[in-house]
Amino acid sequence: MTRPSIDVRPGDLDLDEFRRVGYQVIDAIAAYHAGLATRRVIPDVTPAEVAARFADPLAADGEAAAALLADWQARVAPLSTPIGSPRHFALVNGSGAMIGILAEALAACINTNGVAWKMGPAAAAVERQCIRWFARFIGYPDDCGGVFVSGGTMSNFTAILTALRHVAPYDSTPGGLQDAARSGRFLLYMSDQEGHVSVMRVADMLNLGRAAVRLVPSRPDFTIDVAALDRMLVDDRARGDLPFCVVAQIGSVNVGAIDPLDALADVCARRGVWLHGDGACGLLAAGLPELAGRFRGLQRADSLSLDAHKWLGVPYDCGLVLVRERERMRRAFSITAPYLRSEAAVADGGSDALEYGPQMSQAFRALKVWMVLRHFGLDGLRAMLGKNIALARHLHGLVGAHPDFEVLHEPVLYLYCFRYVPRDLRGRDGEPEVTQAIDDLNRQVAEAVLRSGVAFVTTTRIRGRVALRMSICSQRTLQDDIDVTFDALAREGEAARGAARQLAD
Ligand SMILES: *Cc1c(COP(=O)(O)O)cnc(C)c1O
Repeated sequence: MTRPSIDVRPGDLDLDEFRRVGYQVIDAIAAYHAGLATRRVIPDVTPAEVAARFADPLAADGEAAAALLADWQARVAPLSTPIGSPRHFALVNGSGAMIGILAEALAACINTNGVAWKMGPAAAAVERQCIRWFARFIGYPDDCGGVFVSGGTMSNFTAILTALRHVAPYDSTPGGLQDAARSGRFLLYMSDQEGHVSVMRVADMLNLGRAAVRLVPSRPDFTIDVAALDRMLVDDRARGDLPFCVVAQIGSVNVGAIDPLDALADVCARRGVWLHGDGACGLLAAGLPELAGRFRGLQRADSLSLDAHKWLGVPYDCGLVLVRERERMRRAFSITAPYLRSEAAVADGGSDALEYGPQMSQAFRALKVWMVLRHFGLDGLRAMLGKNIALARHLHGLVGAHPDFEVLHEPVLYLYCFRYVPRDLRGRDGEPEVTQAIDDLNRQVAEAVLRSGVAFVTTTRIRGRVALRMSICSQRTLQDDIDVTFDALAREGEAARGAARQLAD
């Protein structure tokens, strides 16, 4: 190896080349978006085929920026699932707000490390401002604490650890939960049908054990049964366990259920338990005046999660956790080391994000949120949210009017599930082999529509039965996209049913 020169700047581009390729990057991004509505919703390739196209070793010589862009266009973009497609309805994937693309580049430009105030005074202030804006939008105290994290799972983690440290009858910071002199299991509670699996993940991360997540019976509308919860809290405590947190659904992941927050807040206050609202996919709806009734009591929640990369469409990744009493976050997360000290900022009223959440180094996520929110404006944001809910209601109308589909729930938000039940099997769903056959049909229908490239629809289980699931949270989706998708589902259902009947004959 030759001796490295210590008098060069090896990572930088020549500024003229940067400009030239940079403009080409913008052209490539525009071209990608121009084609979104007509692309297949998933590339037609196998994992092995994709892997084979990315098998080349890292070359010894550095490559020009233009070559890297060309390769992105040749290999990366075409082999990516266009989550921004207006007919992408999987998971709760946000559609990607275009202003956010520019924000990502601008955040990378200054490359702020949000760990501490001194590493980015503007970033710290922008973050606070976004937290204030969100809080005012949803009707939460705007002096609350908050940090941006990678997503809902980390938001839930941050809130639930804060809850644990706050509610535990002893200081769990130095000894954790390993103190041999202590007994009783720390327990948390969520709804049985629709409680989110990320809460199990949090139980894993806190090493509470998945059994520490107690599943509370839910009502026919998938909201938590508050009286049953109250009895469980009392019984569990009587047994010597330590209930510490109730996780309320604020938009459950399949049907958009919103738990009765006021009643939950009453129970939690009475039993000395933290109330966390998991609003990863639904919390923004609290900013819609027409839904205000559903969110009564929201301001009483001790903490809330909100994923900006879902409904708001901020590019991945971006979650936000809000905690009503900011100081409780600091009590849970404050940590320091000689090389991290930044007392001056704290003394001046600035604060260091690492004192309030789990991350140390962190991206300037708030910039993309700040730009996306401002690009929408309050009215634009409400219009976008309202439109998605209206599209779910439109789909609900189509399902209800078609003889081969069954309605499973009223739409609350933009998350909607329904079941393909061919008319000749109506009334027989429940006979084990018929239910099995209908479950299979639903899987086949979703798979066939996906394979056709028309729409990305998935399945889930609703009360144990396989259902079609559509998360309509793209700001690009139009009524026609719903109609085209529903027609495709009906057509594939017809085909799959015909094939199944032939087999039976
Ligand atoms: C998506 C989601 C989560 C998890 O969020 P990630 O961003 O995927 O980590 C948690 N709860 C609910 C209700 C969600 O929809």
